[in-house]
Amino acid sequence: MVESQAEALLKEMIGVVDFGLFETVVKSEEEGVIKFLMKVGGGLEVESVFIPMRSKGTLCISSQVGCQRGCAFCETGRMGLLRNLSVEEIVQQVFLARHRLGLAVDNIVFMGMGEPMDNFEAVMRAIAVLTDSAGLGFGSSRITVSTSGVVEGIDAMEKGADPAVNLAVSVNAPTDEIRNRIMPVNRKWNLAELKGAMIRFCAHPRRQIFAEYVLLEGVNDSLECADLLAVYLRGLRVKVNLIPYNPQSRDRYAPPRVEVLEAFWRRMQEHGYLTFLRKTKGKKIMAACGQLGNLQLRVKRGRMLQSEKM
Ligand code: SF4
Repeated sequence: MVESQAEALLKEMIGVVDFGLFETVVKSEEEGVIKFLMKVGGGLEVESVFIPMRSKGTLCISSQVGCQRGCAFCETGRMGLLRNLSVEEIVQQVFLARHRLGLAVDNIVFMGMGEPMDNFEAVMRAIAVLTDSAGLGFGSSRITVSTSGVVEGIDAMEKGADPAVNLAVSVNAPTDEIRNRIMPVNRKWNLAELKGAMIRFCAHPRRQIFAEYVLLEGVNDSLECADLLAVYLRGLRVKVNLIPYNPQSRDRYAPPRVEVLEAFWRRMQEHGYLTFLRKTKGKKIMAACGQLGNLQLRVKRGRMLQSEKM
């Protein structure tokens, strides 16, 4: 049977046979960006986002409901952690996107809700299913795991993961002083410790790192910050992704002005780094980087904490 026939049959069967799949709700669409919710029981929802790129697209998936890392610029961080996702819940986000919503997913990034390194075992087992030819058959190099800088997770990935699986590190600041203010994880593993882990990770010749940098106006967007970032990243095999901050439900920060953003991008190029300026798609529907998570879930967490205390 050719693949398209198999796909069509599977799609038909999903509507008829009870595979124990979760209910999905397409919450919103904007410029081809589709944000959908997967209802995992207990009133909890997991958010995933499909971002179209030319003929196919990238699926941004979640590893936890909420997140304990509390990055100051992140909507999910405001929710706190409700719980880890199981292997099945992680894999189903991809399966349902492909086979129920019919989305042409060709890249998967763990950049949705949660810190993947805080649910490391489940994430690695999910990657094994996603890449197995008897599973979903994705190439390992099509998968990216993102971390806020959990050093023990980077080290575990360096030891145990397929070298083709990509790592993205949210650096976001060139000094400990700035990073401590916006990313509490830095108080546990500072920039020097994080760099040590990235050096160990890059020891394998096939490995490189995507250094993610969310630009916040007046916080980390100066040319001096660009120069310090260039020094910090020296010696690593990295590509740099610059991401203008996305406005959120209760704003403490603002995105940089376009000319500031472009000046930062040019300066990183001048320092010799392959640097990409990421367009932020899906801003209005709260589906862009750092925007997943919602008020209902924050209220739910409040109730869960209250009932734990009783
Ligand atoms: S940016 Fe990532 S690690 Fe930080 S709070 Fe948000 S989901 Fe968690």
